[in-house]
Amino acid sequence: MNTEYKAWRVEEQDGDYVGSEKTLNIGDLPEGEVLIRVSHSSLNYKDALSASGNKGVTRNFPHTPGIDAAGEVVESSSAEIAEGSQVIVTGYDLGMNTSGGFGEYIRVPAGWCVPMPSGWDARTAMIYGTAGLTAGLCVQKLLTMGAQPEQGAVAVSGASGAVGSVAVELLARLGFEVVAISGKADHEKSLKALGAKEVVGRDALTQEKKPLLKPVFANAVDTVGGTPLAELLKQVKPGGSVSCCGLVAGPQLETTVLPFILRGVNLLGVDSVEIPLQDKKTIWQKFSSDWACSKTEASARDIGRAELDAALKAFLKGESAGKIVLDHS
Ligand code: NDP
Repeated sequence: MNTEYKAWRVEEQDGDYVGSEKTLNIGDLPEGEVLIRVSHSSLNYKDALSASGNKGVTRNFPHTPGIDAAGEVVESSSAEIAEGSQVIVTGYDLGMNTSGGFGEYIRVPAGWCVPMPSGWDARTAMIYGTAGLTAGLCVQKLLTMGAQPEQGAVAVSGASGAVGSVAVELLARLGFEVVAISGKADHEKSLKALGAKEVVGRDALTQEKKPLLKPVFANAVDTVGGTPLAELLKQVKPGGSVSCCGLVAGPQLETTVLPFILRGVNLLGVDSVEIPLQDKKTIWQKFSSDWACSKTEASARDIGRAELDAALKAFLKGESAGKIVLDHS
């Protein structure tokens, strides 16, 4: 198919990375069994890294970012994925070194495509996007480890962010008492509206010399990494678990073994990118039914391609809040 389409494309210009709308050709998309007309994408921290030229995310430019996409299958050579059906694609190499959801079309392997859960649509799926999927995986891991509301409060760090806000609402919906840890004092009201019982500042996780602190959280979802994660581990009750998925506060983790060997605390790594498609399907299915986060869905903000640049820059500065959907229409 040699049809033109629009994409928000990032180019290298004198060592700088600049994104703008371009007209491209479907024939130039990478090989793959499934061609998808993308109606919606979602904004993630990783997209901001790709758009700013981070070579750990995207090696070659020009490049179309967008690690999430949802839309209609227009061509498929796979028996599993029907033409005309709606699909969700998140993670794997999408938007990293494969043209991503910031373009109106993507071509990907069939093994990357999750059929849209019945009763759901592309925009709703992209309100959650990779961030929501990751929040769901973090909560699922806590549940698998036996987390229950009666054990006590669950902390969520980076609570106003895309992953954190979904984790707050989902945990509250499942009956947990949520303590939201946030650097944005002006988000106290919105975090409480999502279901947080208490909102505390990031100073709850500033560096302390002691290797263990008073255990106050039964479990936790950490989306920031670095020093705050190390401090969180010191405050988890015996037998509790911390799902760890992010690094906005840094990739280093300086801790002692004491939370692990004296309190039996579990540190659970969460990856949403390279996991089996079935694990993604399980979480999408839950969000489309029992785990629906109605407040997150109602408060999502839609933007067009022209607003991508500013929105991605806000991500890099840690100023982003809530969920942002890219609408290609
Ligand atoms: P956001 O930028 O939306 O949210 C991150 C939040 O962390 C911010 O809103 C802010 O919340 C807080 N924060 C920002 N900077 C700092 C800092 N220096 N120290 C402490 N807290 C900070 O990002 P996402 O929610 O989309 O992603 C969160 C992390 O999860 C990222 O590192 C991302 O790469 C990672 N991620 C990992 C995935 C995986 O598969 N493992 C998938 C998706 C994301 P507040 O102001 O409320 O404190």
